[in-house]
Amino acid sequence: MITAQAPSSTANLGPGFDVFGMALDACFDTVSVAEEGSSITISSDDDIPLEYTKNTAGIVVDMMRTDFDIKPGVHIKIRKGVPAGYGMGSSAASAAAAATAYSNLYNLNLSLTELTRYAGYGEQASAGSIHYDNVAASVCGGFVMVHTKPLRVINLRPPENLTMCVAVPDVSTPEKKTQVSRGVIPEMVPLCDVTTNISFASSLVAGMCTGDISLIGDSLQDVIVEPARRHMIPALDDIRNLAVSAGAAGVTISGAGPSVIAFADGSIVDIDSVGEAMREGFGNHDINCKIFPCKSAKGAGTVQ
Ligand code: ADP
Repeated sequence: MITAQAPSSTANLGPGFDVFGMALDACFDTVSVAEEGSSITISSDDDIPLEYTKNTAGIVVDMMRTDFDIKPGVHIKIRKGVPAGYGMGSSAASAAAAATAYSNLYNLNLSLTELTRYAGYGEQASAGSIHYDNVAASVCGGFVMVHTKPLRVINLRPPENLTMCVAVPDVSTPEKKTQVSRGVIPEMVPLCDVTTNISFASSLVAGMCTGDISLIGDSLQDVIVEPARRHMIPALDDIRNLAVSAGAAGVTISGAGPSVIAFADGSIVDIDSVGEAMREGFGNHDINCKIFPCKSAKGAGTVQ
C-alpha cells in the first residue's frame, strides 16, 4: 500500500484565471492505494462520492490504470482534510494525492507535468471542464503558472515571508459549485480588460520573483472574472477593506470562492489580526467563517 498527501491550494490569485495557483499548508488530503480485486473501489468517512467515476481520485486512477495497461484492481482510501466546495482545491488535493500514490505504487516515474495532466482529469468531474491551476499547485507545491497548449507547469518558490490567510464562510455551496461559478464568467471580454489583467498578472509574477510582497498584494486584481462573481460573495469589499486596514498587502477570491484569501508580509504583519479582520468582514454580513492562516506548501508526496 502507498499513501500520499497533497495540500490545499488557491487558484487564480486575482488576474490569473485558470493559470495561477499556489499550494497552501492550511490542510491536506491523504490518499492510500493498494492493489485489490479487479476493479476500482473507494472508501472514505467523508462526504464525497464513493463511485469511482464521480470521485476525482477514482477518475485519475482509472485514467492511469488504462493508459499503463495495469490489470489488477485497486482500493483507494481517502481521508479529506481540505473542505470540499469552498475554493481551497479540495477535489484537486484528492486528485493530486491519488496520482502521486498510484504512480508510486507501480513505479511509473512520471514528471510533475505528467502527474498534473492526470490529476487534471479529476477536475473535469467536479468542475465540468479540465483546469490545471489547483492540481498543478497541489502536485508541484509553491506558486505555479500553467500553459495548456501544450501542458507545461512553471513552478516558483514564493517569497519566504509571504503569509496567507483564508477565510472559509459557513455557507452551503451547491454540489457543482465550480461549474456554477464558471457559468457566470463572460465568454467575450473587451481587449482593454485583457490588457489590464495581463499587466496585473505580469507584476504579480515579478513580485514573486523579486520577493516584493507589496507588489504581489497590489497585483491581486482582476477586472474580468471577479466582477462577474462579486455578487456571489457580497462581503468581499468589506473583507478587503478591513483586511488591508489590518495590514494585508492584498485580498482576492480563493479560486471559484466562496472563500476569500488575504496575502501579507508575515515578517511585519500579524496574520491573526488579518484573520480577525476577515472574520469581521463576513460577520458584518451575518456569516460565520473559519480562518486558516497559512504559508505556501510543498507539493504532493508519499508518507509512511
Ligand atoms: P473545490 O474548490 O473544493 O475543489 P469543487 O466544487 O471544484 O470545489 O469540488 C468539490 C466537489 O467535487 C464536491 O461537490 C464533490 O462532490 C466533488 N468531488 C468528487 N470527488 C471529490 C474528492 N475526492 N474530494 C472532494 N470533492 C470531490
